[in-house]
Amino acid sequence: MPKVLIIEDEQSIAELERDYLEIEGFEADIELNGRIGLQRALQGNYAIIILDVMLPETDGFETCRAIRNRSNVPIIIVSAKKEDFDKIRGLGLGADDYMTKPFSPAELVARIKSHIARYNRLVNQKVVDYHEEIKIKGLVINKSSRRVYLYGQEIQFTTKEFDLLVYLAENPDRVLSKELIFEKIWGIDNLGEIATVAVHIRRIREKIEEDTSNPEYIETIWGAGYRLNIS
Ligand code: CA
Repeated sequence: MPKVLIIEDEQSIAELERDYLEIEGFEADIELNGRIGLQRALQGNYAIIILDVMLPETDGFETCRAIRNRSNVPIIIVSAKKEDFDKIRGLGLGADDYMTKPFSPAELVARIKSHIARYNRLVNQKVVDYHEEIKIKGLVINKSSRRVYLYGQEIQFTTKEFDLLVYLAENPDRVLSKELIFEKIWGIDNLGEIATVAVHIRRIREKIEEDTSNPEYIETIWGAGYRLNIS
């Protein structure tokens, strides 16, 4: 059930919003104080934030800015004053929508639904892109089919080689120690030896590097580990 946070200091308005949301199958929390509302918005797992502008302690402008610095959660601003919306837009505070009080609760619910749906679509798209295909220069790694292509030519990888390549590719331009790689790919309880990492790196290089003594993709950082070069 999606959870909504209502940051609103007029209790009767907040409760009206909550009642409508609950009828529609949402769970809703009310916070009357701006400063605490901000903390709850950042800590709680909310699908959307309904944010009033005039609030005790931290106002809606500051709350909106602070939430947006840390999170992409949808924010709907509600205010009696239309000028507030211009100000929020002008300051580039990153609100997703604006509603003038008084508004119909049905309209609020409709907008909440559409923003949550839009946000979920965005997030899911990202997850799919991220999980399925990684492209680095001429190298394409498809995680769902577990296939690797180099300039369009498929190359065969063993399970561990593939896992190791994906691990490097998901941590591009970061030095990963042999110990860390071993733990991630073989598991800490595995009886294998850490030298197996170097063996697998060599095999992967033979498959994807034009010149294994001067690798373009997987660099050796002496005394530290390996780094997938993306530049
Ligand atoms: Ca208020």
